[in-house]
Amino acid sequence: PVHQADRPSWLRARAPAGGTYEDTRALVRRKALHTVCEEAACPNIGECWSKRHATVMILGSVCTRACAFCNVATGRPDRLDPHEPDRLAETVVEMGLRHVVITSVDRDDLEDGGAGQFVRCIGRIRAASPATTIEILTPDFRNKAGAIEAVADARPDVYNHNLETVPRLYRTVRPGARYYHSLRLLDRVKERQPETFTKSGIMLGLGEERAEVLQVMDDLRAAGVDFLTIGQYLRPTPRHHPVVRYAPPEEFAEYESVARAKGFLMVSASPLTRSSYHAGRDFMELQRA
Ligand code: SF4
Ligand code: SF4
Repeated sequence: PVHQADRPSWLRARAPAGGTYEDTRALVRRKALHTVCEEAACPNIGECWSKRHATVMILGSVCTRACAFCNVATGRPDRLDPHEPDRLAETVVEMGLRHVVITSVDRDDLEDGGAGQFVRCIGRIRAASPATTIEILTPDFRNKAGAIEAVADARPDVYNHNLETVPRLYRTVRPGARYYHSLRLLDRVKERQPETFTKSGIMLGLGEERAEVLQVMDDLRAAGVDFLTIGQYLRPTPRHHPVVRYAPPEEFAEYESVARAKGFLMVSASPLTRSSYHAGRDFMELQRA
């Protein structure tokens, strides 16, 4: 990874350490689960794992796509693990999680794109821990008929699908994905399950212009999206897309107030914001409000 010392001071996160951090790590290992915290080399891992907050990555650790910003390995994916939903539910119970975030690699190789595994994971967690709220962050299920509907009908509390960047940059940043397909996914989830909160996010620092960011916000609101996250793109390794610029914290704060004015119910915008950063805390605060 790029040395943290090369980054502006506001991007230097706390180093992982401490008892709860170690407990989280041990449990993730024991249950043979993958986390996006580790696979994506997330800078918040020290803070999140110390608070028992981890984002589980289902459907293996190898992705069929190769997004230019992402640290997850690309290649021939793992075999589908039929016990994964049960191990995930056990982990939720053992950790006593009130909110869980589940994501996955893209599985263009599977007929349903992995939708069935999301449905099973949601079902097992609901059965084992009915009070836990469930947030999922899914692939785009491109060319997988019925997949979006099946996952939406499993009624997660929050359905997140990240747009990641502005449409002009898709070709270089997110090859294999289509901006309007991803936007339409969010629209379809909302149409089908209006009670489910929908969520999306983008990264700054990939070469996007301000007008384009504002357009993405308008597109998301037009698709009925409730929550928005905006974070700084960090280059995982020199093989990945370069950081075009580091947006200062004030710029994130300004986008946050613009987004609230546009009607998003929940907005998190800061250099270290990730789609799962503080997700549980923010969601519970919203429910209380
Ligand atoms: Fe994991 Fe999300 Fe926290 Fe990063 S922000 S460490 S991915 S839970
Ligand atoms: Fe990473 Fe998701 Fe792109 Fe796969 S589809 S490379 S996991 S961002």
